[in-house]
Amino acid sequence: MFFIYGTGTTRLVTTPLPTLACAHCGTRGQLSVTVFSRYVSLFWIPVFPFGKVSVTVCEHCKQTLTSKEPLPEAYRLPVQTVQQHAPTAFSNFALLLLVVAGIVLALVLGQLAPNSKSKADTAQSTDADAGVTLGARYKMKNTTGATGYALMEVTRLTDDTVYYKTTSMLRSKPTAASTAQALRDSVSPGAAQSRYPRKMWHFLVQGQGMFRPLTLTE
Ligand SMILES: [Zn+2]
Repeated sequence: MFFIYGTGTTRLVTTPLPTLACAHCGTRGQLSVTVFSRYVSLFWIPVFPFGKVSVTVCEHCKQTLTSKEPLPEAYRLPVQTVQQHAPTAFSNFALLLLVVAGIVLALVLGQLAPNSKSKADTAQSTDADAGVTLGARYKMKNTTGATGYALMEVTRLTDDTVYYKTTSMLRSKPTAASTAQALRDSVSPGAAQSRYPRKMWHFLVQGQGMFRPLTLTE
């Protein structure tokens, strides 16, 4: 990466010096002073100012003097006064202002687009629910280590929640008849209906999840 840096000047103000006599030709009322701001640039964009330079011009004899050299004694105070009161050139902070404007723009765009963000969230949760469908049945491993299994059936789906019911522990091979009966009759009142956040559903049914899709043996 290389950088192209340099310096530049901006004219801040030009003020007549009507009471001052020209140090060269002695003419009064023909002098003016122009104040310049000097700035550092990066890729030709001003970054920050680093001082001011004043230039006096006599309209009569065209003598031009800069404050970089010692000015005639009579010039010093009026020139210094004009230079001190010259306004700041905000354009000399162009790069900084561009960066700030960019940050503000990014924040504003972020505020203006909450809908697209929530759409993305919805799409993500739809992906993450592992395609849960109403009436889907799963087999639940017995976490106590005893033989047997419980059945689980999805009873209700909302945008964000999966509701399901579970049976008590079963030991016989799951057939269409036995599972239908178990789900109809064996629901223990305490576990009649449970719920789980839809976007967390895939943790239950995928990989080493506690619910496995039910395979019937006929
Ligand atoms: Zn002059």
